[in-house]
Amino acid sequence: MPIASINPATGETLKTFESLTETQIDEKLQRAAETFATYRLISLAEREAWMLRAAEILESEKDDFARLMTIEMGKPIKGAVGEAEKCAWVCRYYAETAKLHLAEQFVDTNAASSFVRFQPLGPVLAVMPWNFPFWQVFRFAAPALMAGNVGLLKHASNVPQCALAIEDIFRRAGFPEGAFQTLLIDSAEVTAILEDSRVVAATLTGSEPAGRSVAAIAGKQIKKMVLELGGSDPFIVMPSADIAEAATTAVKARTINNGQSCIAAKRFIVAADIYDEFERRFVEEMKALSVGDPLDETNDIGPLATEQILKDVDEQVKASVAAGAIVLTGGKKIDRDGNYYEPTVLVSIPLASPVSCEEVFGPVAMLFRVNNIDEAIDLANSTSFGLGAAAWTNDDAEQTRFIDELQAGCVFINSMVASDPRLPFGGIKNSGFGRELGEFGIREFVNIKTVSINK
Ligand code: NAP
Repeated sequence: MPIASINPATGETLKTFESLTETQIDEKLQRAAETFATYRLISLAEREAWMLRAAEILESEKDDFARLMTIEMGKPIKGAVGEAEKCAWVCRYYAETAKLHLAEQFVDTNAASSFVRFQPLGPVLAVMPWNFPFWQVFRFAAPALMAGNVGLLKHASNVPQCALAIEDIFRRAGFPEGAFQTLLIDSAEVTAILEDSRVVAATLTGSEPAGRSVAAIAGKQIKKMVLELGGSDPFIVMPSADIAEAATTAVKARTINNGQSCIAAKRFIVAADIYDEFERRFVEEMKALSVGDPLDETNDIGPLATEQILKDVDEQVKASVAAGAIVLTGGKKIDRDGNYYEPTVLVSIPLASPVSCEEVFGPVAMLFRVNNIDEAIDLANSTSFGLGAAAWTNDDAEQTRFIDELQAGCVFINSMVASDPRLPFGGIKNSGFGRELGEFGIREFVNIKTVSINK
């Protein structure tokens, strides 16, 4: 894929970039390695000041960053402003908490003294997706830099300007040259970089095929890896729930970021007693969404990020309809310039159809009717994914069962799944392994060193 900013709302190519040469990549890896040697010794207080400055830059220039995100990948502008603000939040969170999360832990043993010290690992490669082009990067970079690592970013090829803007934020915030570098490269270059001994670990947020490929290389090299992959999150609604609130939240949970979120609710599993009412409300609200120019604040949904994604979503829906699924609303591309797809609701979905077993990265919701909680849990767990899950019920026993039995990295009761700097985030099954955010996130790329001192 060429490295280019193409406005998905218009199809206009805004800017193209040359991939770095081998020599340029080598220079950047060398700079990362040399920077790490000194950066690891810099005090936490100094890193904290730089991270707070990064937060200030994000806040004061949030409108510019938001516009950049929107013209590169099509997210509605309000969400883009929110994304810049959330990046400032994660910078502040780790600036303030790194000293707690990384404090030495003393443990009583037979030795005179024993404790655990957390030390940085070195240059970490981050392979990142376009869907939250700032947030995905900052949630890796803020803890990694606070822990004393240095970062190398291989961003998705359709958001190069966001990638360069992020590098610039860290530079302006005061971090040394080489503490965070963007590599404008093709994904084919990732293998050689990960095989290079100067790169000690990697994190990838993206699709399952990309995850499998990069994790295989990291495995062969015995390098630590975090994988944040796709999802097909269930959103379960039981009879005791507030149906109106559940339906409104369900629409938001499905269509956030134009439906292109790993933790978007994708499969709506509704108890038979309340199914008809939920379906009516949900379809009504999906129909009411306004689709159009993402720079216009009044629009709820913008274009899909690339032509290929539009084509993939369209094919998934068409194949599922051919297999027997019924379209209640939407179901096709919108006939206008840009990668627009109608907000879509499907029912009577065969379990083997693409929308049921694959991740659908667009505003397409699948509704399923179930007779009881056992069926709801079985259906929710019936995919290869295990990222997030939402369950709506005011029954204590049902809440306990959902918390215990849903196979996911997180369970949200009576709300939609969302990431929060204070809480760990990540998946199980084919949604990946390892965690970002919170205390667990900052401990992924550290040497958890055991120290035992005897007299
Ligand atoms: P993608 O195609 O897998 O790309 C993600 C990143 O991986 C890009 O930088 C891409 O570079 C690179 N890449 C792709 N194939 C590669 C390979 N074989 N070797 C090395 N690098 C490779 O995913 P996407 O379409 O950008 O993002 C959407 C996916 O990300 C969805 O599945 C979504 O669920 C997932 N996601 C997961 C989370 C989470 O936290 N679990 C969060 C957000 C998104 P190029 O652009 O150059 O191909």
